[in-house]
Amino acid sequence: MVAKLLNGKQLAEKIRNDLAEKAASLSARVGRPPGLAAILVGEDSASQLYVSKKHQACQEAGFHSELIQLSASISQDEILKKVRDLNRAATIDGILVQLPLPKGMDENAVLETVAPEKDVDGFHPQNLGKLMAGQAGFVAATPKGVMRLLQEYGVKIAGKHVVIVGRSTIVGKPLALLMLQADATVTVCHSKTKNLKEFTKQADILVAAVGKAGLITADHVKDGAVVVDVGTSRVGTKLKGDVDFDSVKQTASWITPVPGGVGPMTIAMLLENTFDAYVTKNKL
Ligand code: NAP
Repeated sequence: MVAKLLNGKQLAEKIRNDLAEKAASLSARVGRPPGLAAILVGEDSASQLYVSKKHQACQEAGFHSELIQLSASISQDEILKKVRDLNRAATIDGILVQLPLPKGMDENAVLETVAPEKDVDGFHPQNLGKLMAGQAGFVAATPKGVMRLLQEYGVKIAGKHVVIVGRSTIVGKPLALLMLQADATVTVCHSKTKNLKEFTKQADILVAAVGKAGLITADHVKDGAVVVDVGTSRVGTKLKGDVDFDSVKQTASWITPVPGGVGPMTIAMLLENTFDAYVTKNKL
């Protein structure tokens, strides 16, 4: 079997175009477009790249986009003040704080300061709690993007065994909750899991969210499984996933590429969350 591609790039483009159209028509009514502010602290080159991609995507969709770059030497109080200013800003519907923050800063304190109704990254404890309780709230863009990608390609989730490798608050844990809500049976693996292969081999849907290039090879994967690769690592000049694409595509039924899979979906979902915040705020 040669796997079919879960083409996140193509789907994300469609979602972004739809959002651009909707934003253009509503902007005239509201008197302004949806607005996203991104806070970037320090000089981390990967973070700079991610933030600039999000900023560009906003601009292409006709959203208002503010990129706030702060020096790594800024104090925690100054960041909190900036977040509070954005909480009050009338032109801003969504706020994202690019992680990781420089060492020594209290990420939780910063994330908790973002107003929950502007928390389009879904990292505020209130939104995480709503996800846990199965209530409506902002869901982190990457796990939301994984779910949308599978849904749009008609991959059935109910009753399936989903194995997620990685248990971060950004990807693995929220994805496990979303999969449970979609009636999957979920196993979550992590760095202390013994005999990883024994678990991944059982997966109908396998999601890798680790950040170790090529960790998942063909002998981790059951024939016909759906494989979603969230991981991204720089190897030389190339971006590599956690999945060894060339070997795994021979046994899987569906597979995401890296790049062009989950990454573009993350950006599309961030825009969608921002648009939703705008709609709610303006009672549209
Ligand atoms: P993270 O916070 O570092 O979490 C990594 C997870 O992988 C942890 O739960 C860790 O276990 C687990 N792990 C590490 N080594 C392992 C191993 N050998 N076997 C099994 N599990 C192992 O990372 P993250 O923020 O979730 O991101 C994960 C990856 O996704 C990264 O490559 C990141 O760049 C990428 N990412 C991509 C997107 C996108 O849009 N494409 C978005 C977000 C993240 P412990 O908990 O035991 O430490």
